[in-house]
Amino acid sequence: MARVLGPTEAEAGVILGEYQRQVEAGGAFFPPDPTSRNECSLGAAIACNSSGARSFRYGPTRPWVSWVEAVLPTGEIIEADRSTPIPAAWPMPGWTEPDVKTAAGYFPATNLLDLLIGQEGTLAVITRARLRLVPLPEAVLSLVAFFDDEVLLLAFVDQARAGARRPGHPDARPDALNPRAIEYFDARALDLVRDRVPDLPPTAVGALFIEVEHAGEAPLDAWWEALDAGGALVDATIVAEDETGRARLSALRHAVPAAINEQVVRNGMPKVGTDFAVPDAALAEMMAAYAAVDLPHVCFGHIGDNHLHLNLLPRSDAELVQARALYRTLAMKAVGLGGTVSAEHGIGKLKRALLAEMVGPQVMAAFAALKAAVDPAWILGRGTLLPPPGAAQRD
Ligand SMILES: Cc1cc2nc3c(=O)[nH]c(=O)nc-3n(C[C@H](O)[C@H](O)[C@H](O)COP(=O)(O)OP(=O)(O)OC[C@H]3O[C@@H](n4cnc5c(N)ncnc54)[C@H](O)[C@@H]3O)c2cc1C
Repeated sequence: MARVLGPTEAEAGVILGEYQRQVEAGGAFFPPDPTSRNECSLGAAIACNSSGARSFRYGPTRPWVSWVEAVLPTGEIIEADRSTPIPAAWPMPGWTEPDVKTAAGYFPATNLLDLLIGQEGTLAVITRARLRLVPLPEAVLSLVAFFDDEVLLLAFVDQARAGARRPGHPDARPDALNPRAIEYFDARALDLVRDRVPDLPPTAVGALFIEVEHAGEAPLDAWWEALDAGGALVDATIVAEDETGRARLSALRHAVPAAINEQVVRNGMPKVGTDFAVPDAALAEMMAAYAAVDLPHVCFGHIGDNHLHLNLLPRSDAELVQARALYRTLAMKAVGLGGTVSAEHGIGKLKRALLAEMVGPQVMAAFAALKAAVDPAWILGRGTLLPPPGAAQRD
């Protein structure tokens, strides 16, 4: 049974959500919040550099890890922090990640710790970690704002995120609205949950779920003013200032994926979900491409990071083929716009071909050279990120 060893240290098998509850009971906060946090292990969250809604403000898991213990494929136990050099025998791929939230490919690390974070279990097994914490926010205001015009909604996203970013970021502005999360739901997502969430405005074309940390007095006036000036349907705004209200809003938020899953069961076909992110300037174009999709779909997600999950919901084998083709076309569009084929879920075994298209054959060869140097017998994560030697690239 994996153990939490102290507020800032835990064994890798600890469930992330359990670790977070323990540190929060002591007044501290570990920000990474993948939706799967109550099921996923801390080690896997580190290995996959997981992120979630709060990553808008706090980034992914990477900056919150200060040290790991790991086992290499040779059986050697190593420790790494940000002063640990990458072994000279490991050829580091020279490449630049797209300047967006991304979880695709080996991180262009300059130290061993950063290389082990986000390697999807292909280079080492993480067994223990030391984490960075911040004080638990005193209070969090949550609100859902509805818009009947998507242009206004997108302009409001730009306004809400201007100067927000994470604490200490050079662009952080004290007068910013400063949300910690900005999440989006399109009209189809709202339609899916109308029967279980009463009073959703019928004219809404989209909604923003926003969380704002504060030190006691909720900055409601500033948000109200901004929403009013930004053309939101202010009378329909749902606000939660306490734990009970936040739980209600959170239920709304989680009702969407639940309703999608029910639809998938009714369709009897798997959904095809995207995980692409694009630069700020390309968000509107990417959303227009999603909206133009000629298949049943629902779009929601981390709009603050230009990272939306388009869920294609095919109803037949023919539509599934169409959905998979569309997925690839949209992935290449995201890449063409300077984005990534995976912002948070990682490449795994299914997105290798997309990674190859995103980074090109030379970088893929460099990734393979690194993997071969670290794991010559190719025993870890076979088929993850890279095809094993001798295997045809089939995806
Ligand atoms: C319902 C659902 C919701 C999700 N939501 C999010 C989300 O919001 N954000 C997000 O980023 N991801 C999300 N994910 C993806 C995934 O759950 C997370 O990235 C999570 O951190 C992985 O944890 P796990 O325990 O499920 O890992 P596993 O599925 O067990 O493993 C994932 C990968 O990590 C490797 N790995 C596991 N443990 C270790 C270790 N100790 N050392 C080295 N490698 C290891 C495995 O080999 C595998 O390649 C979601 C997944 C599901 C099923």
